[in-house]
Amino acid sequence: MTILQMPVRQLGLMVNSFARASTCGTRLFELLDAELDIEDAPGAKDLVVTDGVLRFDNVGFRYEGAGDRPTLSGISFEARSGETIGLVGPPGSGKSTIAHLIPRFYDVTSGKITIDGQDIREVTLQSLRKAVGVVQQDAFLFTTSIENNIAYGNPWARETRIGQAAEYAQLHNYIIGLPAGYTTVVGERGASLSGGQRQRLTIARSLMLRPSVLVFDDSTAAIDAGTEQRIRAAMKRFAKDRVTLIISHRLSSLMHADQILFVEGGRIVERGTHEELLALSGRYRALYDLQLRPDDDRPVVAGAIPGK
Ligand code: ADP
Repeated sequence: MTILQMPVRQLGLMVNSFARASTCGTRLFELLDAELDIEDAPGAKDLVVTDGVLRFDNVGFRYEGAGDRPTLSGISFEARSGETIGLVGPPGSGKSTIAHLIPRFYDVTSGKITIDGQDIREVTLQSLRKAVGVVQQDAFLFTTSIENNIAYGNPWARETRIGQAAEYAQLHNYIIGLPAGYTTVVGERGASLSGGQRQRLTIARSLMLRPSVLVFDDSTAAIDAGTEQRIRAAMKRFAKDRVTLIISHRLSSLMHADQILFVEGGRIVERGTHEELLALSGRYRALYDLQLRPDDDRPVVAGAIPGK
């Protein structure tokens, strides 16, 4: 059986597992174990997406064997189709965990997550994972053509859609400049592509599935700021019909979000638009001052030598 003949669910699990295992190698078996525990509830029906409203309702979560301290507590937010949500906060605060609960890589410990009112634990996994795309930081590429890598999970994909997805992800021009174009085989783990190109390929792959919820899990980290801006501009049209969730340590990636959630210690400690959060003069503001505030606007640090 080739990868393109695999059932979508199996393939999704495989890709997701590989992708996450690559970022945290030792967790491979833990992840596979956790994922095997997730299955369809008896009588589960397919998810029906109508308005595309994603809702976290007082969600709590604790990794098995991670002690008493919950990883997430009291996470509540709602996002409507067309909205972009930005998740920001220190490393280890729980941002990726929030994202990973949406396709049910893990199940919530308390509270619930719904899409258009349907508890995600009560719909079939296959329909849920078709509706939720996760672009990981270091996603797995198969040793096959660029075309197949973009179209994975959808062997009937039309060339025009593959090209369009690559264009949104700012990769089309690079691909058509290659001698074998879209039929170029990318090496194991995409070795012949740069980190940024690999990430853009995985963005194109997620766009192919036209998910109702699209998560970027620090997925533009290896992409330079200029390319990222072009991706963002191209994505605007695409983002109209779905909820987009952006996790990034780079504020410039998410400052334009409709709603920004500042996560710390597994809780949302601040929320609002960029302007609202700046006006709060809290955690977000401190991060902004550190990352983005123009130099000449910064307070003079005691002991700093002017002009240096
Ligand atoms: P962030 O995305 O904000 O960096 P994460 O959601 O990755 O944070 O992690 C939140 C917390 O959960 C951290 O303390 C991390 O060590 C822990 N964690 C993440 N994945 C696992 C796992 N598979 N098993 C146990 N603990 C985990």
